[in-house]
Amino acid sequence: MNLDQATLFLVVTVVGLLMAFWVCFMAWGQPLSHALWAWALALLAYTASHVNFGLQALLPEAVFLVAGSSFYAVSLVLMLQAVRRFQGVVQIGRWHLAPLWLVPLLCTLLAHYSTLRVVSTALIFAAQIGLIIAALLDRSQPQHGRGRYILVGAFGAMCLVLLARAAAAATGLIDTQTWSASSPSLAPVFLISLCAVLSITLGFVYMTMERAEQRNFELAMKDMLTGLANRRAISDQLQSTVARAQRQGQYLSVLMLDIDHFKRVNDNYGHQAGDVVLRAVALALQSRLRAQDQIGRFGGEEFLAILPDTSLEGALVLAEALRAAVEATPTQWGAHRISTTISIGVRGGAITGADTADSLVAAADAALYRAKQGGRNRVEASPPAGPGSNEA
Ligand code: GH3
Ligand code: MG
Ligand code: MG
Repeated sequence: MNLDQATLFLVVTVVGLLMAFWVCFMAWGQPLSHALWAWALALLAYTASHVNFGLQALLPEAVFLVAGSSFYAVSLVLMLQAVRRFQGVVQIGRWHLAPLWLVPLLCTLLAHYSTLRVVSTALIFAAQIGLIIAALLDRSQPQHGRGRYILVGAFGAMCLVLLARAAAAATGLIDTQTWSASSPSLAPVFLISLCAVLSITLGFVYMTMERAEQRNFELAMKDMLTGLANRRAISDQLQSTVARAQRQGQYLSVLMLDIDHFKRVNDNYGHQAGDVVLRAVALALQSRLRAQDQIGRFGGEEFLAILPDTSLEGALVLAEALRAAVEATPTQWGAHRISTTISIGVRGGAITGADTADSLVAAADAALYRAKQGGRNRVEASPPAGPGSNEA
């Protein structure tokens, strides 16, 4: 196969510019600090470095030697910046910017030592890519799925190519003196560049899309105040858990929990204090549930807990532990310690084919009503319906 240098050069340039344009289009309307803007700039610098390389014959040698490598260093700094901004880190470390002056300096000083120049710049670029990969794999940052792996794979390949280039130059496999845009060995370089720019941009855009999707999902399914599942999510979970319990003939218990006299908290300390108490109660409940249990905010100051494979007896023990935990953990609000209690209605044990998510919630709700009537800060049970129940 004969790869035409000039065509490849043109394709790399056009694709680079087109990608930069589309990324700008996607970033349009976002603040300038958005990661996509940094990525668009990186693509422009990346393309500029190739344009410089392709136009070698037309440029003064001093410009050609310094500009191409410098643009490449700039593009890698901007890619690192984009990844860090995506992760919420506004500024990258000062020494991450070192290639911005180190590369032009080396290219100028080593203008007449082509091998040393090619080897040292390739090693600096490889190190820059190494930093980007390290940022992508940073475990202290939230990890985002497949887009990240596309990026790590593509950057890893770029890094290997650069190391191979440094090794080939150092061992004399390529003649760095005559290495120019017209030398045939450059066709694969343009081709690799094209694949790299396509892959990393696809990976980055996909990563931002994945996160937006994740955030939308969280907005739709999570209660923003407490961080628990919202009513829709916990109701969906209850429906699927009921179906599973019916299929497998397992027990299933449901708790309805309601904060006692919560209106008084709002009236006495204000709505903000009420919010803080709600969060504290949610946390106390969630931290005491077992791994297989689920809890969600069902209404204003009402929570629904699903306890799969749990008998009525077991559910009553857990409910009592939850009630005692909330009672024992007042919430600090400024100088005040706000004491709270909860009442719990339990619907527990075996379920029949006639039970539904709604009927279980209604039974737990009826038990909760009895707990409120009985004086609050207590647990009441609703007997499980149907034969084969395990009423305690
Ligand atoms: P009971 O013991 O009978 O449950 O009395 P209660 O005061 O807890 O019940 P009631 O239903 O009368 O009042 C619930 C209060 O919860 C009223 C409402 O303003 C408050 N509330 C609901 N959602 C929120 C919220 O997100 N934040 C705050 N601060 N208050 C909330
Ligand atoms: Mg209440
Ligand atoms: Mg209520």
